[in-house]
Amino acid sequence: MKENKNDLMEKIISLCKRRGFVFPGSEIYGGMANSWDYGPLGVELKNNIKNLWWKKFVSERDDMVGLDAALIMNPKVWEASGHLANFTDPLVECSICKDRFRFDVIQAQEPSNSDGTYNCPNSKASNIKLGESKHHGILSKPRQFNLMLKTFIGPAEESANVAYFRPETAQAIFTNFKNVLQTSRKTLPFGIAQVGKAFRNEITPGNFIFRTREFEQMEIEYFIRESDWKKYFEMLVGLMREWISEVGINSKDVEEIEVKDLAHYSKRTVDFEYKFPFGQKELYGLAYRGDFDLSNHQKFSGENLEYKEEETEKPFIPHVIEPSLGVDRTLLAVLCSAYDDSDGERLVLKLKPKLAPFKAAVFPLLRNKPELVELARKVYLDLKKKFNVAWDDRGNIGKRYYSQDEIGTPYCITVDFDSLTDTSVTVRERDSAKQERIKIGELESFISKSLE
Ligand code: ATP
Repeated sequence: MKENKNDLMEKIISLCKRRGFVFPGSEIYGGMANSWDYGPLGVELKNNIKNLWWKKFVSERDDMVGLDAALIMNPKVWEASGHLANFTDPLVECSICKDRFRFDVIQAQEPSNSDGTYNCPNSKASNIKLGESKHHGILSKPRQFNLMLKTFIGPAEESANVAYFRPETAQAIFTNFKNVLQTSRKTLPFGIAQVGKAFRNEITPGNFIFRTREFEQMEIEYFIRESDWKKYFEMLVGLMREWISEVGINSKDVEEIEVKDLAHYSKRTVDFEYKFPFGQKELYGLAYRGDFDLSNHQKFSGENLEYKEEETEKPFIPHVIEPSLGVDRTLLAVLCSAYDDSDGERLVLKLKPKLAPFKAAVFPLLRNKPELVELARKVYLDLKKKFNVAWDDRGNIGKRYYSQDEIGTPYCITVDFDSLTDTSVTVRERDSAKQERIKIGELESFISKSLE
């Protein structure tokens, strides 16, 4: 079972490289560990995920507005948020090979020695008995390692100019709370959403795009009155469940975990974990954060961040619930759920049509018949005005089908000799491989329907 799962990960990584979803970063320079670049198909899939999220969580709703804030913020933000002091992971180091690991992961996965120490997990690979490796030794005591990625602003590398790449998109939402409140005239409850890059100096990045030092988040801070928190927490759990199924992640592979070890300001946090091929790991988080963030920003900035709706009401700091979703982890879970080579014959990426990089592919039956090519080009260019559509005239039809199946294109449209007289084309559906004749004039509404 385990082998199959690892196999799935390898197959996905290989498909991503072969078909242009995800490339190893800086490859022509020998690569850069744990950095990945999204290729022509990957960027389409990623944009579709982000656009679908924005549509569902922001534009279709009355109680959400958006934001796109600067990535590098005043360092005081990170003092107020607690990131400079507390955004740490426990790090341990091997006394011999010097490799570093997250101590909480080691504790969960490795057996301890009788004296409570841990051996370097690399020693397992060299097949040497515990504690007897010349190349790998005992792990050090844990020390707290800050995950903030530091940079310098301005021409001189002076400490006065130290700044940080944001480790999450959320804080800019708090710092803009007042601006958004005044300009959007929203009343509680309402949410501010942001999609964007975040950076963390992770100790152990890995598992393809699951954990990287540069990634993208889709986050909302949903501002509420304290007394309403349970109601809106349930509402947001419901929305996240809907999202998971709408995006095509197998719900049966998602487990909602009530987090026990809560931060002092949180009354409830739920982690949505997904059964990735390398183990069950966090996909998304949903946290009730009380008034911790706005209160701290009010204290550190000296700005009044209180809210008051009625003349008679006493001003107060709103409470907040935070759904936090990783774009890259979504994309990976979507690929894991969609990958299907179970029939042994063909590989089909069963993406939801809304997410598929191409909504359809258009082929002339034969590339050396100008009248077929001319009509097929017309069909292709007309559809391209509305959807992202692929063109293929290489090889035989069977090969073209396989090629589109493995990148998840829902429909293949073939212009054949009959098309010249009956103005219809053969449309073949990806998952069932069923074919039907459809009038050229009806193709646009046919494809639109599949995207609803
Ligand atoms: P983990 O326990 O896996 O380190 P976390 O609890 O630190 O995750 P959050 O701070 O809650 O993660 O971040 C919100 C979301 O951002 C996560 O649920 C995940 O989808 C995504 N995310 C966090 N760190 C990374 C990373 N290094 N690479 C890719 N996505 C990430």
